[in-house]
Amino acid sequence: MLVKTPCNFCNSDDYIRLVQVLVSPISETSWLVRCKKCGLAYINPKPTLERERGFYDLEYFKPGEESLWRDHRYPLFEKVLSRIESTIPDGKLLDVGCGKGYFLDLARKRGWQVVGVDVSSTATQFARDTLRLEVYRGELRDAKLPENSFDVATSWNVLDQAYDPWGDLREVFRVLKKGGLITLRVSNLHFHLYLQRLFTLLNSAVPGRLRVTAPTVFHIYMFSPGTLRMFLKEAGFVDIRVENSTLDPNVPALVNLVGRSGEVLLRNTISLSAQTIFYLSLGNLLVSPSLVAFAKKP
Ligand SMILES: [Zn+2]
Repeated sequence: MLVKTPCNFCNSDDYIRLVQVLVSPISETSWLVRCKKCGLAYINPKPTLERERGFYDLEYFKPGEESLWRDHRYPLFEKVLSRIESTIPDGKLLDVGCGKGYFLDLARKRGWQVVGVDVSSTATQFARDTLRLEVYRGELRDAKLPENSFDVATSWNVLDQAYDPWGDLREVFRVLKKGGLITLRVSNLHFHLYLQRLFTLLNSAVPGRLRVTAPTVFHIYMFSPGTLRMFLKEAGFVDIRVENSTLDPNVPALVNLVGRSGEVLLRNTISLSAQTIFYLSLGNLLVSPSLVAFAKKP
């Protein structure tokens, strides 16, 4: 079930429709809209809290999909963690939306004291029982973590799937120590919106049986580099950097579209193109499928 909702950031209900979308992860048709007041893009109407929670609780972390959450993300995890460690070498780390805890497990092996929060009971149970991690099940605010207590907070492709991303970000700010770092990864609105429009255009020119589904991802909230910076700045963070993120390998939608070897070629082409555009635009244009942001609590 879908419900109409105001903008999560500014509470306005004045918006324009961008594109009709199949809502990930629940496969219902709705609209991606853009708030006229602040520019945040989001699905409206969106799934009810109960429907979304039900999905993440039981359906999102299926057995047999370990590699999607662990092996494919390890190179990204290690790269970003090394960058964090060049500023803060160790300390207390919080992962918001930690899933089964693979990132926390990696960080712990590198000397971090780690805590995780996730809404999924199956995922948090695995993190606690199998990986022996300190993980809370539920919303970040419900964990009631002490303020000014973490050196680093991370969130991997979770803020754009949160029910209240603006509330969650302010809570992360509260629990970070002064000088603490936040690292976020989210899907990039610009990439997925324009890819969807390109496929719609191409599909309109070919017979129905040859039409293909665009390998796009539309989460409940879709951040652009601009709205991601706006969230971080208004939450109180400084030294904000938003960059292209490397692509996850073997994304099923892409493999289905172009095959395994085609996926490698396409992934490398997209990464190279995005970085070329980034440098040619002097850091102004970020067109990769995902964005990664770094910021500091002053
Ligand atoms: Zn707004």
